[in-house]
Amino acid sequence: MKGFIVSLRRARDEDLVVTILEERALRSYYRFYGARHSILQLGYLIDYESEEESRYMPRLRRVSHLGFPWLYRRNRLMLWQRFVALFEPHLRDTETLDPFYFRLLLDAARRWDRQNPRRIVCECAHALLDYEGRIHEPTDCYICEKPLGEEIALMQALLPAHPSCIFGSALPREKVEDFFSTGKTTLLDDNEVDYLYSIVGKGF
Ligand SMILES: [Zn+2]
Repeated sequence: MKGFIVSLRRARDEDLVVTILEERALRSYYRFYGARHSILQLGYLIDYESEEESRYMPRLRRVSHLGFPWLYRRNRLMLWQRFVALFEPHLRDTETLDPFYFRLLLDAARRWDRQNPRRIVCECAHALLDYEGRIHEPTDCYICEKPLGEEIALMQALLPAHPSCIFGSALPREKVEDFFSTGKTTLLDDNEVDYLYSIVGKGF
């Protein structure tokens, strides 16, 4: 099986509970400590087998790490880990998953060194909300429900609002509209992408 490690928790001693986003599920596995085991890190794409004998949790076996060239670039890896960590709380209570989520991450990982990763994160967040039917079009304010003006602020899950309603900074209306209709950050400059990225970082 293949999957992305979206959470790593210490169990007793040096053992780990590893939560993996697979194509069809988000599952947790137990990993016994072993000096000869490869080191697992948040965000890694791994190939593995599971051993179901444990009543507590399946065990992770025969793990191999499927690398990406950017993994050795510290900043890229840090941004990747921050991004991947958003999926565990979002999908925690789901039993089965559509392959959409795994493919979204795989596609992002493949592009991670060719584009500004913050742009990829913003575009993935839009794709995810769109897939889940949670896009709130930037016409009315989510807080006061009155029409939005020429400056639009965004809240968690890209909910649009008046800057004055959330005491937040904002983006020009036409740029927000373009982002919502295309799902691309093409019209946004890097500072505007940083603003969007800070919103997305609050969670899906
Ligand atoms: Zn408002």
